[in-house]
Amino acid sequence: MYNTKAYSAASATSPLASDTIARRNPTDHDVQLEILFCGICHSDLHSVRNEWSSVMPTIYPIVPGHEIVGRVTKVGSAVTKYKPGDLAGVGCMVDSDGACPHCKAGLENFCPDLTLTFNSKDKHKTAPVTYGGYSDSIVVDERFVLRVPTNLDLAGVAPLLCAGITTYSPLRHWGVTKGKKVGVVGLGGLGHMGVKFAHAFGAHVVVFTTSPDKTEDALRLGADEVVISRNTSEIQKHAGSFDFILDTVSAKHDINTYLNLLGLDGNITSGGDHAAKAAGL
Ligand SMILES: [Zn+2]
Ligand SMILES: [Zn+2]
Repeated sequence: MYNTKAYSAASATSPLASDTIARRNPTDHDVQLEILFCGICHSDLHSVRNEWSSVMPTIYPIVPGHEIVGRVTKVGSAVTKYKPGDLAGVGCMVDSDGACPHCKAGLENFCPDLTLTFNSKDKHKTAPVTYGGYSDSIVVDERFVLRVPTNLDLAGVAPLLCAGITTYSPLRHWGVTKGKKVGVVGLGGLGHMGVKFAHAFGAHVVVFTTSPDKTEDALRLGADEVVISRNTSEIQKHAGSFDFILDTVSAKHDINTYLNLLGLDGNITSGGDHAAKAAGL
């Protein structure tokens, strides 16, 4: 094992503070990264404050962070995909059983024995639970390390590892392409990604937000229309017209408003749901 600097919280009411944590030395299949950037996700805050205690109670100290971008510093003897000096990323998960039907189908994010990047039981027993990306260094099985192209802004890459995949995945799964009409509900961390992806896929994008002052941002990110969702009559103008709606709101809200906006065989996906989001779905 070796020590690395991290930011950890000691309890649900403690601020994050500088700390030193242990990491395992890379095993044969591991990649060691020097962490250059890590996004701050809403899930980090929920976990630090133990707000998901009923489904995934926080074990303290917690080191959050699952939008990790870094440079490979060392690789195990059996690693084939990475070498020292490569840019790489790590998202919401760092291991799975590799044996269940989901893993065999390449859908490890649905594995019942998934190891999340932080606050998950540490199979290597370096610590009681996994520690995330608010640290200088991390060691991850190469199956859960992602290649990062060298032509990208690395700070901008970090949020792709959670907010990005959380929105990219449903947009692709439900076939959002040119000519489709897509609604994005909420313009926070997830919503702004959803707008950019849907716009890039060629869809007609309508953003629903409770905040009129987000209109300019929504348009700048690629929205074709912005509807202030407190305005019921404006919403109803879109009744029955959407192919797909991505609901990114994590606060309590009435989904029936948006169900009514779907066209025949349309789909609405909730990406703001806490459990789904924590799993990077
Ligand atoms: Zn996240
Ligand atoms: Zn599995």
